[in-house]
Amino acid sequence: DVHPEHPGMKAARAWLAGAPKRLLIDGEWVAARSGRTIAVLNPATEEELALIAEGDKADVDAAVAAARRALEAPNWKGISPHARTRVLLAIADAIERHKDELSALESLDNGMPSWFSAAALGACVDAFRYYAGWPSKIHGTTNPTDAAQFIYTLREPVGVCGQINPWNVPLLLVALKIAPPLACGNTVVLKPSELASLTSLRIAELAQETGLLPPGVLNIVTGYGPTVGAAMTEHPDIDKVSFTGSTAVGRSILLASAGNFKRVTLELGGKTPNIIFPDADMEKAVLAAVNGFTRNSGQICSAGSRLFVHESIHDEVAQEVSRIAATLKVGSPFEADTKLGPVISARQRERVMGYVDAGNADGANLMTGGCQLGNQGYYIAPTVFSGVKNRMKIAREEIFGPVLSIIPFKDEEDAVFQGNDTPYGLAAGIWTRDIGRAHKMARAIRAGRVWINTFGETDPVMPFGGFKQSGIGREFGIDSVMAYTETKSVHVRF
Ligand code: NAD
Repeated sequence: DVHPEHPGMKAARAWLAGAPKRLLIDGEWVAARSGRTIAVLNPATEEELALIAEGDKADVDAAVAAARRALEAPNWKGISPHARTRVLLAIADAIERHKDELSALESLDNGMPSWFSAAALGACVDAFRYYAGWPSKIHGTTNPTDAAQFIYTLREPVGVCGQINPWNVPLLLVALKIAPPLACGNTVVLKPSELASLTSLRIAELAQETGLLPPGVLNIVTGYGPTVGAAMTEHPDIDKVSFTGSTAVGRSILLASAGNFKRVTLELGGKTPNIIFPDADMEKAVLAAVNGFTRNSGQICSAGSRLFVHESIHDEVAQEVSRIAATLKVGSPFEADTKLGPVISARQRERVMGYVDAGNADGANLMTGGCQLGNQGYYIAPTVFSGVKNRMKIAREEIFGPVLSIIPFKDEEDAVFQGNDTPYGLAAGIWTRDIGRAHKMARAIRAGRVWINTFGETDPVMPFGGFKQSGIGREFGIDSVMAYTETKSVHVRF
């Protein structure tokens, strides 16, 4: 291998060398019923990494049937909350023992720099441990009533959960889609993205190897969205869907879920405003602005893709952001000083380059980047446009690549107006030393998460999700516990 020095590379390669990757259904690893497979490419080299199973509706049906049986089985439904805690802790420990292997595998599969996959792995383990603490704390209430009855509530599992993930940060999102539903006593059928399924498959293997998960509690069906994903969202025996992905697909999932009124959580796209006032700590704000649009090559739902800068400092900030962005190393995910790896696919690179063309055509000032790099792998130079108008296409649509729009604003009111003038509402950043303005802005911006004098931080204790077309519901924190349980009211008349 070209990067044998990564501590997890040998183990990752050994795992990849195994037979084609299969589906996990009812505790068994099986080929797709059709026998078909999908070739997975390394976005940095375009080499074929592995074959994964191309599941379809028949495989989904089998997985859902197994998940339904497991939901009612005494070895899952009947176990104590403390036993569920032990299951999740054991999975977390197994993931942590394989952290280098999983980090290498993620960087091979998705192209993210290895420091980023290592951070995602840490967040994955934290999420499993955080939700491991919940089973013994999920409780209902006893409620006031007249003297001749006793009334109380129970929080019960929602049932079979259909979980659909994108490709951008699989290590974190697989934890988000598995740990909370299992903590609440549900069973899971998970579909990772066809573009990055490998770490989800490996984590499912590690989870099975703990020996603590009864068959059918966790099922993985790899494959394409319009087949596997659609079969899940239309399935009459799936009770809840949790989807992370694009707003366009989210809309079709909401419609398809209406058949049996599935509970639906949608974590969708964003066009995050990151707002710099003239009184900000400029050095920190500028660095965070650069990280905000280049982290994971901009393939982050909450990427700070619209940088609003007060008109008095717009030109100076645009210069500095562009200068730093131009120094960032774009290259192999496994070189220590790499800041940006490739984007996920040739198709994604074409999409992003299309937005660069749109920015140029609409008259934005291209400050740096604007081109693809190298002739192998899907690399794009960090790209900064200044003097952008919020009505331009590059400022309205989610690009999901390393492209920044810098937009001037006049005053606080204008920053709020332009920041909110978007169909999205996932996150926002605010940079100011004026504490009153910071809190006023935090309330005025319509987004599910606001960062003040910081950007991009996440923590499993903090709910995440979108206003407007960025989604429905919240995940992480106690919000996931609510989303994976149903309330039942019980009235007992004496
Ligand atoms: P995508 O919507 O194309 O695909 C997401 C998943 O849905 C994949 O597994 C895909 O196979 C599946 N899918 C596609 N069509 C489907 C259908 N008709 N029915 C059911 N499933 C279907 O998104 P992507 O390109 O994989 O990921 C990028 C998007 O994800 C961006 O828009 C990004 O903002 C969003 N995202 C959001 C969050 C969040 O928490 N809000 C986090 C990460 C990514």
